Amino acid sequence: MATALSRLALLQPRSLIEALRLLRDEGPLVPLAGCTDLYVGLHFGTIPEKRFLDLSGLSALRGIRLRSDTLVIGALATYTELIRSPLVRRRLPILVEAARQVGSPQIQNRGTIGGNVANASPAGDTLPVLATAEAVIVIRSVDGERRVPFDSFYTGYRRTAMRRDELIVAIEVPPVEGRQWFRKVGTRAAQAISKIVIAAVRAPLPRIALGSVAPTVVRVPCTEAVLARGGTITEAQATLMDEIQPIDDVRSTAEYRRRVSANLLAQFWSETAGRAGR
Ligand SMILES: Cc1cc2nc3c(=O)[nH]c(=O)nc-3n(C[C@H](O)[C@H](O)[C@H](O)COP(=O)(O)OP(=O)(O)OC[C@H]3O[C@@H](n4cnc5c(N)ncnc54)[C@H](O)[C@@H]3O)c2cc1C
Repeated sequence: MATALSRLALLQPRSLIEALRLLRDEGPLVPLAGCTDLYVGLHFGTIPEKRFLDLSGLSALRGIRLRSDTLVIGALATYTELIRSPLVRRRLPILVEAARQVGSPQIQNRGTIGGNVANASPAGDTLPVLATAEAVIVIRSVDGERRVPFDSFYTGYRRTAMRRDELIVAIEVPPVEGRQWFRKVGTRAAQAISKIVIAAVRAPLPRIALGSVAPTVVRVPCTEAVLARGGTITEAQATLMDEIQPIDDVRSTAEYRRRVSANLLAQFWSETAGRAGR
């Protein structure tokens, strides 16, 4: 049953430090950014918490900039902002591709990258991109800042390394060398949750990450190693099919996900062959 919104409390801090103090002293509070995921939970009555922390007034979580050679994306950056950012287009074009395929323009206008990361769905479309880019998740609490490498941020199905008194403030992306590649496979071209989503970088040591094939978004180091040592694509496909652990669910079957993942791997390899740079 839908949650009665009139029974919920919304705290609206005006600064990051105020938000972090509220999280520590007035918790438990649920951070609320674009509310595109949370609203679904409220609609279906699956969110037991009654008190929310509105992040929308926190300018410290906004903006997309370069700090030395690192691309720093504020947690509140929306998909529309990612799509429109010349910096993101130049440095991480696969993040623009992923953002373009999220939901619909309405969702792209409200949904944030911080929300996609914190929501921790194995089908989150930006997550394989951040995995292949070896991004760092910047987390703050009243006690200070932590930088968690993407590959240790998820600790299990819909579980993260964040504590309840912490917020994601930004995502840092180091320079990515090599040609970038992204594909999302869903039931239709728009408004579809991924059956499989893959991001990859063609470099001397290729980097490949997939979503919807395991409890969290995963890099596939054994498959990457086969390609790095010059193994055949057939060998890499066989390794990939062993390495991922897809399940049957409402959106697809494990068998479909294994086969399509292998096909996408071959497509990545052939489409990026002999082409240098981004
Ligand atoms: C119709 C529809 C279509 C969608 N299509 C897609 C799709 O194609 N691909 C896809 O990946 N997703 C999709 N989504 C899911 C959703 O839009 C994204 O996950 C979005 O990025 C969530 O961001 P948000 O700002 O709306 O998060 P919210 O709903 O505000 O929050 C989501 C979760 O993250 C937490 N959170 C948010 N910001 C922070 C922060 N800074 N620090 C700590 N915790 C935080 C919240 O507490 C909550 O648990 C869709 C959703 C809808 C309703």
